[in-house]
Amino acid sequence: MSSLRADVFVGKSVLVVGGTSGIGAAVANAFTQHGGEVRVTGVGAVAAELDEAIEVFESDVTRPGSLKSIVDEMDRLDVLVNCAGIIRRGEELEPEAFARVVDVNLTGTMRACAAARELLARSGGCIVNTASMLSYFGGALVPGYSASKGGVVQLTKSLAAGYAADRIRVNAVAPGWIRTPLTEELQSDPEVTARILGRTPLGRWGTPRDVARAVLFLASEEAEFITGTVLPVDGGYLAV
Ligand code: NAD
Repeated sequence: MSSLRADVFVGKSVLVVGGTSGIGAAVANAFTQHGGEVRVTGVGAVAAELDEAIEVFESDVTRPGSLKSIVDEMDRLDVLVNCAGIIRRGEELEPEAFARVVDVNLTGTMRACAAARELLARSGGCIVNTASMLSYFGGALVPGYSASKGGVVQLTKSLAAGYAADRIRVNAVAPGWIRTPLTEELQSDPEVTARILGRTPLGRWGTPRDVARAVLFLASEEAEFITGTVLPVDGGYLAV
């Protein structure tokens, strides 16, 4: 359940990039449940749990112009959420895989922000990006993912300053360890799971819905004086 009013996003148009699975799909559903008109983009399969009212577009964030063509068809945009992301454990020590992960996670986020800026400026809208625990730590097997998520934090701060004159707020969430297809490999490894849960004071995996609630807060009027911040949604993982 959410403590936000059910009609809080009525009349608002929301675009969730990477909204066809996991966290993005939960974010898209949550905006729909609170009255928003929601579009999602992604590549490949679409999660079965996505609400039927949501319009789905196939769109690769690494293809310049692909998001722009979607945004150009829209009359209004109030909220952009960037959830597109990939991880290539082990492979990212090679420069090619490193560059690919940075292109999707970091440059893809920038492409979406740039494509949406004009429409968001018209509505005085906002952006919520997706950082990670690996924005704070390095990861031996995932240098590309860590670099990209560190970059998402600095991008969020920079665009908060750069877009402020357009009345666009820019924030990020930093999810902890969340049950989605991206972490399936970790979830099925009992040792990794024990290590993660042993360090998480609230003692459980996060759900996509946990992250969606924080995204809705940052996108709501309740957060109208908040910009340039990163909100961990991690069950306390960063606290210890
Ligand atoms: P997921 O694999 O379930 O979803 C990823 C989404 O990104 C999908 O909609 C997919 O279509 C889209 N995507 C992938 N490559 C794309 C591309 N080239 N162009 C456009 N869209 C593309 O993963 P998730 O766990 O829901 O991850 C969502 C975001 O949350 C990612 O940025 C991820 O890094 C971040 N995150 C996840 C966790 C976690 O524990 N699951 C933790 C921290 C951060």
